[in-house]
Amino acid sequence: MTSILFKHISHLATFDGPDRDAGTEISDGFILIHDNIIIACGPMADCPEGAERTADRVLDLSDHIVMPGMVNTHHHFYQNLTRVMVQDDELFVWLKTLYPIWARLDDRAMATASRMAMAELIMSGCTTSSDHQYIMPNDCTLDTPIRVAQELGMRFHAARGAMSRGESKGGLPPDSCVEEEEDILKDAERLIGTYHDMSDHAMTRIVLAPCSAFSVTQGLMKDAAALARTYEGVRLHSHIAEVLSEEEYCLETYGMRSVAYAESCDWLGPDVWFAHSIFLNNSEIKTFAETGTGATFCPSAHMRCGLGIMRAREMLDAGVTVGLGVDGSASNDTSNMFSEVRFAQFLQRVAPDRYLSETPGGRGGFGGTPAAMSAREALWMATRGGAKILGRDDIGQIAPGKSADLIAVKRTQLGMAGTQRDPLAALVMCGPFHVDYSFINGVPVIEQGAFTRLDIDAALRDHAQTMDRIYA
Ligand SMILES: [Zn+2]
Repeated sequence: MTSILFKHISHLATFDGPDRDAGTEISDGFILIHDNIIIACGPMADCPEGAERTADRVLDLSDHIVMPGMVNTHHHFYQNLTRVMVQDDELFVWLKTLYPIWARLDDRAMATASRMAMAELIMSGCTTSSDHQYIMPNDCTLDTPIRVAQELGMRFHAARGAMSRGESKGGLPPDSCVEEEEDILKDAERLIGTYHDMSDHAMTRIVLAPCSAFSVTQGLMKDAAALARTYEGVRLHSHIAEVLSEEEYCLETYGMRSVAYAESCDWLGPDVWFAHSIFLNNSEIKTFAETGTGATFCPSAHMRCGLGIMRAREMLDAGVTVGLGVDGSASNDTSNMFSEVRFAQFLQRVAPDRYLSETPGGRGGFGGTPAAMSAREALWMATRGGAKILGRDDIGQIAPGKSADLIAVKRTQLGMAGTQRDPLAALVMCGPFHVDYSFINGVPVIEQGAFTRLDIDAALRDHAQTMDRIYA
């Protein structure tokens, strides 16, 4: 057994409270971990006697803000090989341009891209990520990002994505990018059998994730739901209501809106979460709340791709579980978790629904409200919200018995000056910042701002070469 004492933590935010609250916040705090589990935490005055003497390691964090590692609930790692492309066109054009390039990816390229995406996430405060790999060209398998996550020490919910409805069947992707449905389901079963771990503090779980209404059939949606539900804790994930043209596609193809379509596929429930969910009307928000269906807010991608503003405020108030996602590196174009929290807060503040467009006097434009989202609530979505969406109560908070996933950000750095009165809000409102320490499952993956298990220069060189190879 290895024990680590984190002592004299300048500001400790535990997120151990009720929904949407930052929970207990402590000045001069401590955390004691044994292997991968938090044993005790609280004010320094309550630190168990002798802990400092008996711990294998003592880390003084008197210059640090400490909080739980964040949870990213939507991503497509492979897309960092196609960044800053199709900068100014709408989503369907963006997809149709990139599909043929993605079709050239191979397993080696997937490893390289996954490594880079996870490194960016970890450096920006994320300790658990899901990844939605929905294109499996050439020799690609989901085994590869799982192996890379194990190498880097990241907690990983690998989503076995899929596309099966190519152009010839009325779908959006070219036929060269889709798989046979029988193969998809067989591979999903293999992955669950090999990797899905339902124990507490598990590092790997499998999710089933057909890509979207316009790239898979209704049959695959139904079969994936039925298959997932024959196992314990295999969740379902997909895109929904991401762009208005998707709503039009659903009306034309299935004769119903996207949420009704999801319901027709048995895709509503506490074991389901959807990315985006931008165009939900009031009754659909109610449906999400009543069925326990989760939603991932991806503010950077929503702004970058000009998609719209998800009604996260209304959804949270209605009781929907909302988490955050950086979304794919080509639709964001970054994988920075702290940046996502910042934009989540800010984008809700300008959401126009509450104070719409034109005043009686004829003034144009629209205004929002700063009361729409606090820094703490945005951080709650990135920690507890994300954990809940992934079906986990062992991560997303700092409390005895929880997984030892924690991050520490230095207070004496540019951008933090003048934030002594509220260092936790500063993490969101003055950032984005990099972490100085990150412990995942009790293992240090970042120490003094540097990776402990990754040669980042070599990874960058490999990434540049891989991109040249894919485009050659
Ligand atoms: Zn996506």
